[in-house]
Amino acid sequence: MSVPLLEARALIKDYGAQRAVNGVSFTVAPGRCFGLLGPNGAGKTTTVEMLEGITAPSGGEILFRGAPVGRDYPEEIGLMFQSTALQDFLTVREALDTFGHLYRRRAAFDALVRRCALEEFLDQYANTLSGGQRQRVLLAIALANRPALLFLDEPTTGLDPQARRRFWELIREIKAGGSTIVLTTHYLEEAHLLCDEIAIMDHGRIIAQGRPAALLADHFDESILILPPEQAPALARAGLAAQETLHGLEIATRAVNQTLRRLLEVDADLSGLRIRTATLEDLFLELTGRELRG
Ligand code: ATP
Repeated sequence: MSVPLLEARALIKDYGAQRAVNGVSFTVAPGRCFGLLGPNGAGKTTTVEMLEGITAPSGGEILFRGAPVGRDYPEEIGLMFQSTALQDFLTVREALDTFGHLYRRRAAFDALVRRCALEEFLDQYANTLSGGQRQRVLLAIALANRPALLFLDEPTTGLDPQARRRFWELIREIKAGGSTIVLTTHYLEEAHLLCDEIAIMDHGRIIAQGRPAALLADHFDESILILPPEQAPALARAGLAAQETLHGLEIATRAVNQTLRRLLEVDADLSGLRIRTATLEDLFLELTGRELRG
């Protein structure tokens, strides 16, 4: 196997008597997107800050290309923070120029503008940008040194659904170009869409890790059929057990075809039927007993 681009080995971080990160280990292969998920206070930001070289670990090791991180490491990574202050009275063009000059290795200006779709607002002041535009500028800044490794810290928090989707497309393109990414997010859908591998953190530890689809397959083998509440009598006739939820009557089944046949036999009205498979949200709830966004 090739050497991982990044490796965390038994990372620990103590804040006084509190252990914020308690022995976190994982590897990120080149060209992959690795996602860190978890509820507030799980230790994601602290872990990522250690990986970014911003916070010193209390224990453990960080390897980049198989060697302990060295002085050149900051030149190799790109950071997109949640709340980087953009200077309000710089235009996007000026902001990009300013950041670009901080690095020895620099992305070509035009390529960066094209890649992050900044053409339309290059000469606008930072304080006039929409949330989605602002995030794209912050992404361009993170890419200004052509980093081998890109850190994205909750990049779509606060964006409307359309801007969020647009940003996801952008990240997918950047990934298709061969970039390696470490992403922290609250959005399980975001992790599912973008990440090759995820680690779910809680109380400073990783409690589950793997490819999203494999994690779900390991924990769930049922599909959920959802019917409107008025179908309760039909379900009773069919002898099917259902759970009443906010979404309707939910029937968990390993045999979807058979369950549907049974419902048709008793003349159930299936016009309002929906089917879903388990999501990372279900997995998170099962592992932690809590909703991620709770
Ligand atoms: P969020 O999703 O809310 O950002 P998180 O998973 O990123 O949460 P961290 O910010 O890493 O979690 O926090 C982990 C724990 O460490 C929390 O209990 C937090 O209060 C504590 N902590 C974080 N930074 C500090 C600090 N500078 N000093 C003391 N305690 C801290």
